[in-house]
Amino acid sequence: MGYIELEVLEDQPKRVVIGIDLGTTNSLPAIWKDGRPEILEVEGEPALIPSVVHVSDDGTAVVGRTARARSMDDPAHTVHSIKRFMGRSLGELDEAVLRRLPYQVTQTERGLVQVEVGGKRFTPQEISALILREVAAQASVAMGGAEILSAVITVPAYFDDAQRQATRDAARLAGLEVLRIVNEPTAASLAYGLDQKEEGTVAVYDLGGGTFDVSILSIEGGVFEVLSTNGDTSLGGDDLDALLVDLLRSELEGSVEGSVFDDPAFRQAARLSAEKAKVALSRDPEADLVISLPELGVNARRTVTREEFERLAAPLVERSIRCCERALKDAELEPKDVDEVVLVGGSTRVPLVRAEVERFFGRAPHTELNPDQVVALGAAAQAEVLMGGSRDILLMDVTPLSLGLETMGGAAEKLIQRNNRIPCSVKEGFTTYADNQSAIDFHVLQGERELAADCRSLGRFKLTGIPPMPAGLPRVGVKFHLDADGILTVSAKEESTGASASIEVKPSHGLTEDEVSDMLEASFKNARKDFEERRRVDLIAEIGIMLRHATANLTVAEERLDRESVEDLHEAIAAAKEARLCTELELVQAARDTLDRATMPLAAVLMDSVVKEAVSGKKLGDL
Ligand code: ADP
Ligand code: MG
Repeated sequence: MGYIELEVLEDQPKRVVIGIDLGTTNSLPAIWKDGRPEILEVEGEPALIPSVVHVSDDGTAVVGRTARARSMDDPAHTVHSIKRFMGRSLGELDEAVLRRLPYQVTQTERGLVQVEVGGKRFTPQEISALILREVAAQASVAMGGAEILSAVITVPAYFDDAQRQATRDAARLAGLEVLRIVNEPTAASLAYGLDQKEEGTVAVYDLGGGTFDVSILSIEGGVFEVLSTNGDTSLGGDDLDALLVDLLRSELEGSVEGSVFDDPAFRQAARLSAEKAKVALSRDPEADLVISLPELGVNARRTVTREEFERLAAPLVERSIRCCERALKDAELEPKDVDEVVLVGGSTRVPLVRAEVERFFGRAPHTELNPDQVVALGAAAQAEVLMGGSRDILLMDVTPLSLGLETMGGAAEKLIQRNNRIPCSVKEGFTTYADNQSAIDFHVLQGERELAADCRSLGRFKLTGIPPMPAGLPRVGVKFHLDADGILTVSAKEESTGASASIEVKPSHGLTEDEVSDMLEASFKNARKDFEERRRVDLIAEIGIMLRHATANLTVAEERLDRESVEDLHEAIAAAKEARLCTELELVQAARDTLDRATMPLAAVLMDSVVKEAVSGKKLGDL
């Protein structure tokens, strides 16, 4: 284990801040060490945590590789790609994505999405919290047990306020303080140290498992500025997998019952087979799609050439290029104005993607760093900056969508324009529509559309206490403040009387304070339950070994021990056998302890005979 630099703050415990790439598919922690960011490693391997959670019917949750391994034999209990659901309502989710899921997705009365696994319902925040907890735990192991309390967490640049808020909530549930939410493309540029450039324009192309992002950044005198962002929250490697799954399905069409395609085991096996073939095709000119599920009568092998795959994938890659075009347009730039192109995300290993990106921008992209790791590295660099470290960089981000208010007749008035730099504040005057109107309802919106009904509702609040006046006379100042994390606060004040309603607008799909504290409580309770369950399972395993040993030597015991000891032993064995089915930790523990005591005399006799045999020379040759 290497030396770890700990930041010591006055009168505060040692604080370790890590950078976390909380990915749709994989999550990865990194830290700043010896003047550069470094991926945290456990046993010589990057501490890469698949963003997968398995929940069994008794409510026990496991995260990461173990969970991913269950996706094949127990898909209905295994949650993938939860990031796509963060801060979203059911209506906003892609139906095609929902249809492919082997478990139910529902929503609460407040419109929070929930996944149903292991007979329980989890919000995306809760699932992400489990992932973050595991990432922090692995990071802690990687750093020799240091306690991790704070993190910089990355999100796609396209994430809106609700999605950012959901990410913060997840971190809080995981017991992590979020120092900053950073856009993934911004982090990637930091990892490449592009802040060292005198000036220039950078395009960051990030194609991961479930999301696509492109950001156009400018650098001037070491200062980064995000000029524009664009993307598609439903475009990534999963969609490439889906293309190959469709191939497999058409290969099987006719030879199996149609219902097989809806079988969770089929869906999962097909998905894994497709991903494997896709990864192979990044390297080889052809690969095999293989699926064998005898219990479903499914058995197929289909060779796919890179050419065929590229033909299928071309429209998806094309969609990403369209996003690049739009991002450039927003930044009022042309492809030739871009000086550097950075590739991020596992899916940028697909040769067609590299070729198309290179063709569009007219230059070879950066690929020196591992595209799966650049975001985590950048997050660690950002953490260093926030901790007052040496690296001198200034980040400026932009808001991905416009923010505004609903006005008369259901129109949407934008106060903060899309791609405005953040943090920022905007103030605007409003008034009443009716005589003696004593209150105004404010409806906060997000989106580019003209009608409020077409925009996303972020929340509503009411300013009351306006003195009776003719319509149009009261002057109400409304202030929108967007902080550096992209979180929005809206306040309103009637200027003649000072009546004000300073209201923090929570994105409508975030969690309320109460919900967060309920969940926190539940997660603490479960943490204890999970721990006890683990202990019980361990004890039962231990009892099993002790029982095997005791029963194998029962004859010796009966020959050599006094009656009382033999009786004790029989009793303890019977009790221990029963205890193996017991769900109470204390009872299992007691049975194990009793068996341990009851086998002492037997152990002494056995030891004695071993020693005697050794002394009598029988075993000398073996010694
Ligand atoms: P995310 O940011 O969404 O968590 P990653 O950047 O970790 O995702 O990328 C995961 C995606 O990259 C998956 O869809 C995976 O199949 C894909 N991927 C990883 N390696 C390769 C490869 N060699 N060729 C093609 N796709 C790959
Ligand atoms: Mg990613």
